[in-house]
Amino acid sequence: MARPTLIAAPRRPTRQIHVGTVAVGGGAPISVQSMTITKTADVEGTLAQIYALASAGADIVRCTCNEEEAAEGLAHIVPRSPVPIVADIHFHHEMALAALEAGVQGLRLNPGNLRKEAEIKQVAQEAKDRGVPIRIGVNAGSLHPELYKRFGGATPEALVESAKMELAYFAEVDFDDVKISVKASSVPLMIEAYRLASETFDHPLHLGVTEAGPPLVKGTAGIGTLLAEGIGDTIRYSLTADPVEEVRAGRQLLEAMGLRERKSVDLIACPSCGRAEIDVIGVARAAQEALESRQLPIQVAVMGCVVNGPGEARQADLGIAAGRRRGHLFIKGKIVRVVPEDEMVAALVEEAEKLVAEGIDARLAAADAGAEAEAEADRRMLLEAKGEDANHSAQKVELIRKTIEESHETPGPAPGPPR
Ligand code: SF4
Repeated sequence: MARPTLIAAPRRPTRQIHVGTVAVGGGAPISVQSMTITKTADVEGTLAQIYALASAGADIVRCTCNEEEAAEGLAHIVPRSPVPIVADIHFHHEMALAALEAGVQGLRLNPGNLRKEAEIKQVAQEAKDRGVPIRIGVNAGSLHPELYKRFGGATPEALVESAKMELAYFAEVDFDDVKISVKASSVPLMIEAYRLASETFDHPLHLGVTEAGPPLVKGTAGIGTLLAEGIGDTIRYSLTADPVEEVRAGRQLLEAMGLRERKSVDLIACPSCGRAEIDVIGVARAAQEALESRQLPIQVAVMGCVVNGPGEARQADLGIAAGRRRGHLFIKGKIVRVVPEDEMVAALVEEAEKLVAEGIDARLAAADAGAEAEAEADRRMLLEAKGEDANHSAQKVELIRKTIEESHETPGPAPGPPR
């Protein structure tokens, strides 16, 4: 069930680092990251969230290490985590040292608020001794004040300079096991900053739009643009939502762009129109909910009518179209079963599982005899009942013409006295 892959610029070559068992950069698959929103000191709660993130497709998970109890929590979390853990460090270098002691597989340092040269070098030396990589996580919102002043704001050059300065400190202790991020909440700024970072460094780049809020638009615009240019080795699709949602969004983005092998279902649905025989939005949502927890790497279509649905979605591996209170189940545009309308979603899920287990040819061979003929009869009856013009546009145009003509014929109210 191969799909076309992204026609994009070749991926920019970067050196490879390892966050635990996950390779980042150097041609490795683009990994998906997320961050827990629990208190790290709450070991069981944090582990439950890490497991949820991992099963949604996260390759790496970051936890804050902002206090001693968080570092102690990490010592219990890391050995039980199904994915490598990165400790997020702001302000306090001793938290970085404590996280390394706890066994984390990566650190994220914010150069905007960890500014003492001696402390940065101490952390880098300790990370080097333990073979743990560090992300230099520059953020436009917490840029070093001196750089802000020198560059006249959080410009792409200022963000990249911040990463350069940190790298220079690391170089003094001969440490370069590094990935870099230059995030901003402004999409144009982060795109320009990452383009410049990609020209400046050969370290792997961690992409993200920070403080992106709840809508999915910013992450897709920023991360998607850069990925299409071949920039980026690992992503965090930040959302103000359950972190599981951001992992799903990140994976879906990579899968949609052909940059990661499809693990989950790709649901497509028609936009609906006057022909729709069902509530397409409701059925599509129900199908998405029923299918997304299953690991079914196929494209599934939900189409509002049997007149055009199977033809319009003939590229989909599997689909269902509605008509005359029944659902026409089709594989690659060929009708295989006709089911009652209230069984559409259940039939779709059942067939999706069989399709993945048995393959397209086997499922086409198992099609119900007579399904095609039954479906064709429904289609013809609908065409006869609704005609080619299901939106009734011809009648609407006629009505508009009449309304205008009548308004011309009817004399308007007599003009009132001048005011
Ligand atoms: S013609 Fe049918 S399949 Fe196409 S948008 Fe309208 S309802 Fe959906």
